[in-house]
Amino acid sequence: MVTSNPSLAENIAKNIVGWRFDNSYSRLPDAFYALAQPARVQSPRVWILNYRLADELGLSLRALPLEDAANLFAGQDLPGSCRPIAQAYAGHQFGGFTMLGDGRAILLGEHRTPCGRLVDIQLKGAGPTRFSRGGDGRAALGPMLREYIISEAMSALGIPTTRSLAVVTTGEPVFRSSALRGAILTRVAASHIRVGTFEYLAARHDVANLRALADYAIVRHFPELVDASQKYLEFFRAVMDRQASLIARWQLVGFIHGVMNTDNMAISGETIDYGPCAFMNAYRPDTVFSSIDHGGRYAYGNQPAIAHWNLARFAETLLPLLDPDQEKTIALASGVLAEFPKQFEAYWLAGMRKKLGLETAAAGDAELIRVLLDWMQNTAADFTNTFRDLSSAELPADDRYRHPDFRAWYSRWLDRLQCHGRASASIQSRMRAVNPTVIPRNHRVEEALAAAEDHDDPSVLHRLLAALASPYEATADLSYYQEPQADDCNYRTFCGT
Ligand code: AMP
Ligand code: MG
Repeated sequence: MVTSNPSLAENIAKNIVGWRFDNSYSRLPDAFYALAQPARVQSPRVWILNYRLADELGLSLRALPLEDAANLFAGQDLPGSCRPIAQAYAGHQFGGFTMLGDGRAILLGEHRTPCGRLVDIQLKGAGPTRFSRGGDGRAALGPMLREYIISEAMSALGIPTTRSLAVVTTGEPVFRSSALRGAILTRVAASHIRVGTFEYLAARHDVANLRALADYAIVRHFPELVDASQKYLEFFRAVMDRQASLIARWQLVGFIHGVMNTDNMAISGETIDYGPCAFMNAYRPDTVFSSIDHGGRYAYGNQPAIAHWNLARFAETLLPLLDPDQEKTIALASGVLAEFPKQFEAYWLAGMRKKLGLETAAAGDAELIRVLLDWMQNTAADFTNTFRDLSSAELPADDRYRHPDFRAWYSRWLDRLQCHGRASASIQSRMRAVNPTVIPRNHRVEEALAAAEDHDDPSVLHRLLAALASPYEATADLSYYQEPQADDCNYRTFCGT
């Protein structure tokens, strides 16, 4: 009999979704992971599916009935070709070292995309694993949608990031300070290898497996280094370079990760683990939104220094691989590590020049930028909107822009651009291509989450996602998404654990 709605079992047998699982991580030695199975859940339901991402990954989600998609992304009916595991890792959390591991995430395996890329497919919130310690392994709808929104916004901004393929609700409550709706996020990543993954093996003094992990990471993320002499040192240098570039990209859009523990720093150079993250409105380097970051360790302005600190922890794990001579190995690692501040500064300065339409480098640029940022800080100017205003044909009528301090800076900048009156149309359009019109403003994110959680209404979320999808274009009226909240100093984000 031919049915128009084939069962999931039939779909999987035919693999109509198009999975091509490799499971290379689970072929690594046992120490790297524990086998895991997603928990049974009561009534999975699709909350959101990222069809565009699915297309990029060569997955035919459009052909899959929603009920089947819900079962798939809740881990209830897994593709036969995957081998679910929880990855082992450790981490420095707020400076203190702990053995961790995937306590609420299950890696289904690595899917090979049509263009040959290998991506991790991970279910976050799919139930307990060997690493759950006291936790329930579950996640709530709000935090999973929050990760979906921010990761997709980061991707649209052109910043390396893990992606979000789906959020499904489980039909079961999760208990935090109150009962919340349980949900599972399907996360797609270049890999989930973290600085903390290296720390895990280093803490066990397991040099053979440490080398195996480094070799695996090199093949996966830096294949050009496979035959390099001093390949582990070059590997460290390459990871550092990606982090310097990544953190510069964060700073240039005002992104605050919120919990830059070493277990949340990916070797691939992607932004990973969207917990208490948020975007800064008024420019203030000490901005912190995370409810658990009392000391401001992960404040906006500290992010480069924290990345450097995390990379020092990474370098320490690699010491046994660099040179048999202990003094020499430390000298090698320290030599590379010392380059980080300069490297970060170079990425940041290049990005800032672009934001200001400067095509060439001149000696006074860093100072020119500093004066603008100081003025922004003194006048509580919105970071995103100020750059967007500078990219527009006419500065908006705002008293701030009439102030002599700003006028002095503005004419200096125009001189630097070598134009008279105001920045020319071509400079403005180049600037608009790097200065976003829309970022996920905290109150707009909260509004979308409240509609979802309290009213089961996905429409607010969908409108927000549409506005965030092309952040550099201002084709429609986006003023609703551009306005910062009057005073968000008291805004707090939560880990959601
Ligand atoms: P995160 O704050 O998401 O970076 O997680 C830090 C550590 O806590 C990781 O090892 C997680 O797997 C673990 N964890 C977070 N939430 C839970 C939970 N609900 N159940 C079990 N483990 C969790
Ligand atoms: Mg984490």
